[in-house]
Amino acid sequence: MGPPDAEHNSSTGALSAIVVGAGLVGFAAAVALRRQGHRVTIYESSSFSTELGAGLAIPSNTLRCLIGLGCVVANLDSVDNLCFTSMAYDGTAGMKSDSSDYEGQYGTPWVMAHRVDLHNELRRLAIGPDGTGPPAVLHLVHRVVSCDVNAGSITLADGSVQSADLIIGADGIRSTIRRFVLGEEITIPPSGTAGFRWLTHATALDPYPELDWIVKNPPMGARVISAPITPQGVPKADMDYRTIVIYACRGGSLVNVLAIHEDSRHQDSVAWNAPITREALLDFFGDYHPRFKRLLELAEDVHVWQMRVVPPLRTWVNGRVGIMGDAAHASLPTLGQGFGMGLEDAVALGVLLPSGTAPEEIPDRLQVYERLRKERAEYVSKESFDQQKMAEKRGVYLRSREMRDKVMGYDVKKEAEWLLAGILGQK
Ligand SMILES: Cc1cc2nc3c(=O)[nH]c(=O)nc-3n(C[C@H](O)[C@H](O)[C@H](O)COP(=O)(O)OP(=O)(O)OC[C@H]3O[C@@H](n4cnc5c(N)ncnc54)[C@H](O)[C@@H]3O)c2cc1C
Repeated sequence: MGPPDAEHNSSTGALSAIVVGAGLVGFAAAVALRRQGHRVTIYESSSFSTELGAGLAIPSNTLRCLIGLGCVVANLDSVDNLCFTSMAYDGTAGMKSDSSDYEGQYGTPWVMAHRVDLHNELRRLAIGPDGTGPPAVLHLVHRVVSCDVNAGSITLADGSVQSADLIIGADGIRSTIRRFVLGEEITIPPSGTAGFRWLTHATALDPYPELDWIVKNPPMGARVISAPITPQGVPKADMDYRTIVIYACRGGSLVNVLAIHEDSRHQDSVAWNAPITREALLDFFGDYHPRFKRLLELAEDVHVWQMRVVPPLRTWVNGRVGIMGDAAHASLPTLGQGFGMGLEDAVALGVLLPSGTAPEEIPDRLQVYERLRKERAEYVSKESFDQQKMAEKRGVYLRSREMRDKVMGYDVKKEAEWLLAGILGQK
């Protein structure tokens, strides 16, 4: 049996829920459930002593969901993304795509934030004393090693067993919970793609006027530098793909750089995330124009990240257990939607499990959750892959208003509310 605080409380209509993983999506799930009055316990294997310092794109649909969960946008200290400027690696101009009207089109702008600031805000909303519903309880340095989908319980590394009405695996691309939901371990195949990531203080760019285009010259927004480019402006070969994405975050005080490239290493035999020297980075981009290389020369604390995609899964749910976020559908960062899709999962789950939901209704509601979320998240995941790997699809997202409307114009809360109304209407 679980601890007393994990049991269903029939007098208040509150469910007990266990969330495995306190990444961005785990905290979002805890917020969404807490706001319905449910009692949430989060188990996180790490201590958060070394949080990932990196920027994160927050497109319109993502920001809309964050605001809906009570996020105070000012706490994100974000920077508006008013345009995408693409340039060729040799310094020649490319395309400029205006994103200043995304707020007009979708009700919320596209902004960029520091991952730690976003994580802190979601953590505040999940476990802080203020807000709707009982604060979630967070246990750090508690690794979950197994899950019993029939009993509705998890086992921690110390051998203790915890039960709850609902168990959510938000435990990332190398999820433990996924194995128990599927009944088998699956392989997350190498994508052959990796990214060099680092942050530079904006003030470090001050002595170099040739770098003013990054964060000083308006309109502000993401700068994308691709190589190689043929004279017709079409990327040459899949295996030569290199793109550097640059944008400011934390009120413009930091510059986030992600240099995506085809990774010729045998990805199964190297670390998923490892430090790399500036020299190696410069070697890799040796043919870039001097003004881009100047930025690379300022790089410090660079890591190389493998990027993998979770293949479409047979299911995301089993009994009272479900998975969400990267555990269910990790994608490439091409569309800037990885976190956004996990956040939409969390919002959908919260709507589908309102206060008063009986524990025995959970398996059916999880089926509805899967029906609502799986197709859309897998569509985004596939597009994120194709639009990087297939030369003819590169940049489609920025060029296609129809595709942007589909991704950023979508309102998951409304869709989930509509489905719930249908379920409750049948009763
Ligand atoms: C290079 C790169 C750039 C990206 N850029 C963007 C972007 O601009 N915009 C965007 O929306 N997305 C972006 N993404 C994707 C985004 O970062 C992820 O989709 C998102 O962070 C996933 O969150 P998560 O909570 O599902 O998983 P994670 O962040 O992986 O969190 C999982 C958590 O679970 C914990 N955990 C794991 N196993 C256990 C266990 N057994 N027991 C207990 N705890 C456990 C982990 O310690 C971790 O804290 C990017 C990804 C990459 C790699």
